[in-house]
Amino acid sequence: MLPSIFISHGAPDLVVSDLPARHFIAQLGTGLPRPKAICVVSAHYESASPRVTSAPQPRTIHDFGGFDAALYQIQYPAPGAPDLASDIARRLQAAGLTTELDPQWGFDHGTWCPLRLMFPLADIPTVALSVSPQRDARWHLALGRALAGLREEGVLLMGSGALTHNLREVAWPGSNTNAPAFVHEFADWMVEHLATQDETALLDFANQAPHVTRNHPSLEHLMPFFFALGAAGEGWHATRLHESVTYRALRMDAFRFDA
Ligand code: ZN
Repeated sequence: MLPSIFISHGAPDLVVSDLPARHFIAQLGTGLPRPKAICVVSAHYESASPRVTSAPQPRTIHDFGGFDAALYQIQYPAPGAPDLASDIARRLQAAGLTTELDPQWGFDHGTWCPLRLMFPLADIPTVALSVSPQRDARWHLALGRALAGLREEGVLLMGSGALTHNLREVAWPGSNTNAPAFVHEFADWMVEHLATQDETALLDFANQAPHVTRNHPSLEHLMPFFFALGAAGEGWHATRLHESVTYRALRMDAFRFDA
């Protein structure tokens, strides 16, 4: 069965950078059973309550500024999956989460940057699901858990965010090898509690983890992690697939979760 996946997507120029994280994501697709469809919770698609893209052919959104012009030319023309979007809305409604179909939104860079590396042919039907940063980790875990059954139907459930993400702490350009201690201390705390499958502590990261607000002044890049964790279902175990740093303060870790 497909695992659920959390990816740190880094900055948009990751897709054209010669970095370990880029090379890791580029081989990630070939190491998985081929999904029938993909559902990505993107840190860049925020909504107070769940929204899921329902366009048959979602647009590619270049939701960033100040990067090389070539990045704005990249299209990711994967088909949408309106039937999957409706199925997701039904499953979330059944879990008590009022969900809207969204024919307007498409693939923001939290979705298309990793998918362009993982599945460059853009031939797998894909939907994006919103993140709700005003909701907590437990809520996002429940969001993922409500959709866990989709993995049995060949749907890849993916969270796309960042293990650490404070844009005021990044350096452009910055070291891709050395991050300050506060970055590693937070990331290592998360990794340690994944290793011991301590879901209770992870859900209470805001009180227990070190340097939370310095790594996540807002939580939209961390909540997709909890979606992916929940999407594994009960009795999960985590495998860290990758660990690196970009732009001094962005940990690029990726995890797979299996039941
Ligand atoms: Zn981002």
